[in-house]
This record gives sequence, C-alpha cells and structure tokens, in this order.
Amino acid sequence: MLSKEKRALVAEIMRRGGTLLAEPCPKCGGIMLRYKGKTFCPNCDNIENIEELEGRSETKLTDLQEIDDLLLRRLLNVLKQQPDDEKTSIIILNYINALKTLREMKNKNES
Ligand SMILES: [Zn+2]
Repeated sequence: MLSKEKRALVAEIMRRGGTLLAEPCPKCGGIMLRYKGKTFCPNCDNIENIEELEGRSETKLTDLQEIDDLLLRRLLNVLKQQPDDEKTSIIILNYINALKTLREMKNKNES
C-alpha cells in the first residue's frame, strides 16, 4: 500500500502526462509508472517528489554549461598569450575538440 505522499506523487505524475504501465513492479508487484522516459515504481524507488524526476536531466545540462564556460575561458586564456609553438597549438585544438563534443552532447540533451 502506498503512503498518502506517494499516492499524491503518482496522481501528480499522471496529471503531467505520465503513464501507468501494464506490467507490475517485479519487486513488490505494485504499479509502475513511466514518466519523461524513465520507468519507476513509486513504492520501491525512493522518489520523494516530481522535481526529483524532472530535475535529473536539467542538472546534467547545467553541469555541461559550466564545463562549456570553463573550457571557453581556458581556451581564451591560451589564445591571449598569442602562442606560436606547436605544443600550445595542440592544446588549443584539444580545447576546441572538447567544446565541440560537449556542444553535441548538449544538443542531444535539449532535443
Ligand atoms: Zn516496486
């Protein structure tokens, strides 16, 4: 039996477009839900609120943004020193490649 809080959580998830799965939870035999591409059991999975479910991908995106800023700042610092040796050129290329990969990851996350 779900607690009052868990029942409210299930109701809120349903209201926001979550779906009930036909399959019962393999652990407790209770209802399973699917929301934002995640499948979970409100009984077994320790989810206290809907923000916890929604927040995960957003947190990841913020992290990526922070790394992006950091990489960009470091790249600018290297460029400001007007490098002309081969070693620095490789470092610059590495920063650019890292930024490129990061932005591809971000695009995937956003779509
Ligand atoms: Zn369960």
